[in-house]
Amino acid sequence: MTRRVALLGKPLKRRHSQVMHDAAFDAAGIDARYVLLEIDADEVEPAVAEARGPDWLGLGVTAPYKRVVADLCDEVEPDAATIGAVNNVVRTPDGRLVGINTDAPGFRAGVELAMGRTLAGTRVVVVGAGGAAHAVIHACLGAGAEQVTIANRTPSSAVALAERFAGIGDGAASGVALEDSAFREAVRSADLAVNATTVGMIDPGVTIPVDDMPDGATVFDLVYVPAETPLVRSARDRGLRAANGSEMLIAQAAIAFERWTGVAGMDGVMRDAVAPLLADAGAVA
Ligand code: NAP
Repeated sequence: MTRRVALLGKPLKRRHSQVMHDAAFDAAGIDARYVLLEIDADEVEPAVAEARGPDWLGLGVTAPYKRVVADLCDEVEPDAATIGAVNNVVRTPDGRLVGINTDAPGFRAGVELAMGRTLAGTRVVVVGAGGAAHAVIHACLGAGAEQVTIANRTPSSAVALAERFAGIGDGAASGVALEDSAFREAVRSADLAVNATTVGMIDPGVTIPVDDMPDGATVFDLVYVPAETPLVRSARDRGLRAANGSEMLIAQAAIAFERWTGVAGMDGVMRDAVAPLLADAGAVA
């Protein structure tokens, strides 16, 4: 029996996850396939119900279904519940569906690699307050960041996010508008600045004033198409450490794969498999 994982979302424009997981199934000798299921909202509930069957390992979930799928699971892990988004579902041997979030630990792995240090004790600026920002901020505070300043085009979302995650870890969280002087001040003393918006991928532009950042700081862009985003390019030009979101993408996939199969350490296989897609910024992948 060929087992399955399906990615639920709409639209599904990229094949990065499919390429990584299918390569990992092959490398691990597991008879399974990762399929893309571009479905409408009214098709989500039956698709999730079907995944309780014995031929399923679980589900991947992307926009716009990360919240609704959480409500359809039998259980949601505490971190995923706090973040408010499920990006993968694990089918247990008895057919129960457990919602998990691998974006937060994937971000942590990717950003700590980029910084060359842990997040503990850092001062972080995050631009964005959408689904990905929820995972980023949860990861930073959970890993012991000292201060997280959240800035967003819609400032009320940044303030709400800071309040929502205030109790996580010992660090302080605050929400500001992109135009606030408090944003510039936070950037001037940041160890790390993260772009968690779609800017650089969908909209052109740069969300972080990298010239204001201290020497030795790191810029991390969740966007990974194009490979060198405008933000990454400007940070490198300024002499800062900078990385796009590709290592986060790989790390979160490897964590999900381990949860579905029990097989760890597929990062290298996945990195090799997805490299051609990541390198080809023009590809619809
Ligand atoms: P989302 O929930 O739709 O949130 C989008 C965010 O971008 C919001 O904060 C929005 O601000 C902001 N934004 C959009 N257009 C903007 C503009 N022109 N100027 C300023 N801010 C703007 O999206 P998401 O799911 O959080 O994803 C965000 C990005 O992270 C995407 O590029 C996605 O591909 C990437 N991502 C990468 C990984 C990875 O593994 N590397 C994982 C997850 C997501 P408003 O609140 O004002 O609308």
